[in-house]
Amino acid sequence: MTDNKSRGWIEVICGPMFSGKTEELIRRLVRAQIAKKNVFIFKHSTDNRYSEDYIVSHNKNKIKCHSITRSEQIIDFSKDIDILGIDETQFFDSTIIETCNTLANKGKRVIIAGLDRDYKAIPFGPMASLLTHADYITKLNAICMVCGNQASFSQRLTDEKNQILVGESEKYEARCRDCFKP
Ligand code: ADP
Ligand code: MG
Ligand code: ZN
Repeated sequence: MTDNKSRGWIEVICGPMFSGKTEELIRRLVRAQIAKKNVFIFKHSTDNRYSEDYIVSHNKNKIKCHSITRSEQIIDFSKDIDILGIDETQFFDSTIIETCNTLANKGKRVIIAGLDRDYKAIPFGPMASLLTHADYITKLNAICMVCGNQASFSQRLTDEKNQILVGESEKYEARCRDCFKP
């Protein structure tokens, strides 16, 4: 275990909706499985768009996962795990930050994906903090559905006001800075 200690770190994959965060998370986790690592995958159960038991990307890639609501559940599961993936990390409360640090300090590779900004373009849940704690950061762009440029904002298409509104292309689209209407 001490041998393993220096090998832990935190990777964050962020960006707006449709930017390929889930796809990139699945890509990294599949490679870890090919390397015969013990991989465990979580998502916040608020995201029930396709399935409770799978993380599914918009282009229908999928990988089996555990749906959870509290970050302590990750610690419970993670004893013999080398690599953890967490999707929809923006839905967890701030205790996820300590959880990720604890696991990285124990020598685990923690890969988290989530929306860095909500539909008002303000930092979403624990994501801003997690970016400061991260060892590696990947910020992805989508394609603006209005003009075709690089998009880093998630435009809500309905007038619902709560921060959490789970939905797909019927409720959101990716927009660039010019086309985004907060
Ligand atoms: P995220 O997890 O960031 O919401 P996914 O990984 O689930 O994104 O999906 C990415 C895929 O979504 C892309 O590979 C592409 O097939 C599809 N897609 C749909 N709309 C867009 C868009 N506006 N920009 C980029 N990709 C899009
Ligand atoms: Mg996703
Ligand atoms: Zn645009």
